[in-house]
Amino acid sequence: MKITAIETLHLARGITVHAGPVQWLWVRIHTDSGLVGLGETYPDPLTEKAVIHQRLAPVLLGKDARRIDRLWADMFEAIAYSGWAGAELRAISAIDIALWDLAGKAVNRPVYQLLGGASRDSIRTYNTCYDDFSFLSQPLELAESLYASGIRAMKIWPFDPIAKETRGQYITADQLRKGAEPLRLIKERFGDRMQVAMEFHGYWNLTCAQQIARYLEPLEPMWLEEMLPQDNLAAYRELGQSTRLPLCLSERLMTRWQFRELMENRAARFIMPDICWTGGISEAKKIATMAETHYLPVCPHNCGGPILHYASAHLAANIPNLFICESVRKHYLDEYVGIVPDTLAARDGELPLPPGPGLGVELSPEVFARPDIKIEVSRA
Ligand SMILES: [Mg+2]
Repeated sequence: MKITAIETLHLARGITVHAGPVQWLWVRIHTDSGLVGLGETYPDPLTEKAVIHQRLAPVLLGKDARRIDRLWADMFEAIAYSGWAGAELRAISAIDIALWDLAGKAVNRPVYQLLGGASRDSIRTYNTCYDDFSFLSQPLELAESLYASGIRAMKIWPFDPIAKETRGQYITADQLRKGAEPLRLIKERFGDRMQVAMEFHGYWNLTCAQQIARYLEPLEPMWLEEMLPQDNLAAYRELGQSTRLPLCLSERLMTRWQFRELMENRAARFIMPDICWTGGISEAKKIATMAETHYLPVCPHNCGGPILHYASAHLAANIPNLFICESVRKHYLDEYVGIVPDTLAARDGELPLPPGPGLGVELSPEVFARPDIKIEVSRA
């Protein structure tokens, strides 16, 4: 199954999602078998596709698409001198996803079967709250509507507006109360029936993070995510040792090597790789297995496009040490519609096992008919 062409596709106008316009980059790997593999990354199609066509295509064209680990190592070597934890690794991630899609299609099996089979019949998911109800002004309406749809865990980031006011360098008693208020209200109404993960997007310094963590302890959030930037994992260990709440990180750590450092520092209790950023399905599987050796659970970061959503579901179906998989209700009910034929929506708080063969998803014909679609092809 030789690779004959590598095609990239993106929509110049982007797609308007919760946070504004986003541009997903899709990659299609063509082979002499006639099979085509589909991958995805985000959020900078222009830089990612430059890496794919200029740096990775020469490594891949003419090679056997089934040699996934070898091709990954060759791609990683090809970008070794250009700094790997950016567009280079996002490009590798997209290619790796497409290679797994091809591998599944070649043997007519879903990807999770190739990873070792399903460890569960459906996938527990939590909702990252880009919903129409605001978690700042309508936390109870939001939690009620999630609860009604069977979802029992949610993620919110009410401290972000405060961090923007103080640049994360100090926090007052009033601000602590204000930031904790949505969590307090939800816990008061729902108790243990709704788990709430608190996301901080790396905005705080260590001193503030320790103050916030202490303040939130009685409210028992599910985890504290990315309280600090990710460049100093020893500081994370200090944060972890100063609170009894579990830390979660991070979609901004890249490859098995950065996650190794995270785990060896005992800095997190939940491990959160993003397949489209950290190196693809191959790398996320390796990170999950490494987490298993530290007795740590994995929660795949899944807040991007529809192909990431499917790839995350395959990984989450397979890994024995899954804690819970992220999903965004607004994505699968609304924003993925028209991009893929089936958005793999959660039912009763669970994602179904994705179908096969391969990832079990293709871009819808209307995507190819859009006037703003940008397609480039590298051929052997
Ligand atoms: Mg996050």
